[in-house]
Amino acid sequence: AKRNGRNRYEHFTLAMDDAARTRRIIENDLREAITNKQLKLYYQPITDAEHTNILGYEALMRWHHPVKGLIMPNDFIPIAEETGLIHMLGAYALYEACREAVSWAGEQTISVNLSPMQFKNSSLVSTVEAALRDSGLSPHRLEVEITESVLLDDSLGNIRTLQNLKALGVMIALDDFGTGYSSLSYLRSFPFDKIKIDKSFINDMGDSREALAIIRAITGMSRSLDIQITAEGVESSEQFLKLREEGCTLFQGYFFGRPQPSELRLESLEQQCWL
Ligand code: C2E
Ligand code: CA
Ligand code: CA
Ligand code: CA
Repeated sequence: AKRNGRNRYEHFTLAMDDAARTRRIIENDLREAITNKQLKLYYQPITDAEHTNILGYEALMRWHHPVKGLIMPNDFIPIAEETGLIHMLGAYALYEACREAVSWAGEQTISVNLSPMQFKNSSLVSTVEAALRDSGLSPHRLEVEITESVLLDDSLGNIRTLQNLKALGVMIALDDFGTGYSSLSYLRSFPFDKIKIDKSFINDMGDSREALAIIRAITGMSRSLDIQITAEGVESSEQFLKLREEGCTLFQGYFFGRPQPSELRLESLEQQCWL
C-alpha cells in the first residue's frame, strides 16, 4: 500500500491554464480581502469519544471573492505565506476566532491554525495576547495548531515562543502528525496538549496496514505521554468506531460536521444521526 501524504488533498481548484494570471490576481486581491470583509472563518466541530459533546471547533478560513467566488485556503494561504500577507491574515484569524467564540453559548474551545511563517514575527505572542484581551476569551479556550516544521528549525527560538504561548494559558496542538519528517523526538521537545493524526492515515487505514500501524504507534505513544489524540478527516461510522477502539480521544471530520460559518455551525449537527 502506498502513502501519498497530504498532497492528494491539495486539489488546485482554480483553472490551471491561466495559473500564473490567477496567482497574480489572488496576490493583488488578497491585500484588500480583509478590509473588504471577504475573509470568513468557518468552524468544524471536534467531538469526544461518545460523539455526544462538541468540545470545540477548528477555525478554517474561506475567501469569498467577488468575481471568483469561494476560494479555499490551499489556494491562497501559500501565496499569503510567500508575500508576507500571512501575518495580517493570521492576526485576523486570531482576533476573529476569539471574538466569535466569546459569543457562543457553550464553553467550547476554538482552534486556530498558525503558519510556520508567523513564528518569524517576533510579535506573535503579543498578537495572541491582544486577541485574548480584546475579546475577553479565557485563554484555556484558545488552542493553536502548529505543524512540525515549526520545530524543525529552532534558530528563531520557536520552542521558546511556544513556551511563551503556553504561559498565556493557551493550548498547543501538533497538526498533521505523521506526515513530513515526523519524529518522536518532536514530542520530547515540547509538551503538546494534543496531537492531530493527519487525515491521510484515516483515509488509508481501511486498506493499508501501514497506515493502521502508524495510527497504532501514535496512539500507543500518546498513552504513555498522556497526550490527547485527535483523529481528523473522519468520514464514516466505521472509521470512527475503529479509531475509538485504537485509542483516539477526539474526532473531527465530515462524518460529524463540515466547516460552517459561526451562525450556522450548530445546524448540521441538529439534523444528524451519527451512527
Ligand atoms: P488542516 O489544518 O489540516 O485542516 C483540515 C482540513 O481538512 C480542512 O481543509 C478541512 O475542511 C478538511 N477536512 C475536515 N474534515 C474532513 C473530512 O472528513 N474529509 C476531508 N477530505 N477533508 C476534511 P481546508 O479548510 O480546505 O483547509 C486546508 C488547510 O489550509 C488547513 O489544513 C490549514 O493547513 C490551512 N488553513 C486553513 N485555515 C487557515 C488559517 O486560518 N491559517 C492558516 N495558517 N492556515 C489555514
Ligand atoms: Ca489544522
Ligand atoms: Ca490537519
Ligand atoms: Ca494541513
